[in-house]
Amino acid sequence: MKDMIIIGAGPAGLTASIYGVRSGMDLVLIEKLSPGGQVMNTYEVENYPGFAEPIAGWDLMSRMEQQARRLGVEIISGDIHSVSRGADGRLITGIAGGKTLEAKTVIAASGSSYRKLNIPGEKEFIGKGVSFCATCDGAFFKNRTVAVIGGGNTALEEAIFLTRFAAKVYLVHRRESFRGVKLLQDRVLACEKIEPVYDSIPMAIHGSGRVEALSIKNIKFGNESSLKVDGVFIFIGFDPNTGYLPENLLNDKKEAMVDSRFMTGMKGLFAAGDLREASLRQIVMAASDGASAAMHAYEYINGIV
Ligand code: NAP
Repeated sequence: MKDMIIIGAGPAGLTASIYGVRSGMDLVLIEKLSPGGQVMNTYEVENYPGFAEPIAGWDLMSRMEQQARRLGVEIISGDIHSVSRGADGRLITGIAGGKTLEAKTVIAASGSSYRKLNIPGEKEFIGKGVSFCATCDGAFFKNRTVAVIGGGNTALEEAIFLTRFAAKVYLVHRRESFRGVKLLQDRVLACEKIEPVYDSIPMAIHGSGRVEALSIKNIKFGNESSLKVDGVFIFIGFDPNTGYLPENLLNDKKEAMVDSRFMTGMKGLFAAGDLREASLRQIVMAASDGASAAMHAYEYINGIV
């Protein structure tokens, strides 16, 4: 039996593994895809302390992974579908394929996934003009016209990034002002290639074979119109990846509820990063959560609290 199983190798999980292994815990880090998490899709990070110049998202996460591996963290591939507590206090994680792993503590750090618009054309055109990752797909839109949906920091940052390639970027937001921070709003509004489209919600994505247009509705006046676009980039927030956790540990947004030690309602099960209630969804905070959860898990195992 392990001391600790960490689920998810984003900033929270990798940091938890670094703190856990340095405390001498026998642990394993399980990742469904490849290490790095959402940050891998971010072109540049300029608010993670310690880097005077912006650092590419993949570079930052690759450094965290290398740091964990250098310290001896074992990272294995697996898709966790359940966490339960055995009668003797063990925590049992079920892995797809029928395997189980047991540990004294588990840190759920599986992050979040892109929220979908759920409008006609969105699913059909994924990979054919609809994208959730500007870093991955932006270069396919050289001298083209694209729409970015959303008004938060992600939408603003990615709209600016897309102007490296696209001739024009419509930034479609459902309210009359953006949610993102002022510095990004100022950059967006100063960019000639970006045309904000306020008070508008996307209705459907159209095309034959590839995206050709986005129909939108102005919610102040009720009129519908169509934007001729080659691509639609959707950045309307994230939903927590908590499907494998018992329902009674989650709030109505499906986020894991934790106490001040990052422990959930199941003893020994901690949650860190984007999937927990009241997360501010910053890389530095996910890292901080991971460190805290690992330290509290250590104390829990050793009966210190
Ligand atoms: P977010 O802050 O939740 O913003 C989502 C945006 O999408 C909002 O503007 C929202 O509109 C809009 N939206 C939500 N559902 C929609 C729908 N169904 N149709 C149309 N529009 C919809 O999400 P985010 O921008 O992805 O950011 C997530 C978190 O990561 C935030 O805490 C953010 O600060 C953080 N983040 C930080 C950085 C950074 O520090 N550099 C970069 C990226 C993200 P309303 O405004 O009307 O709600």
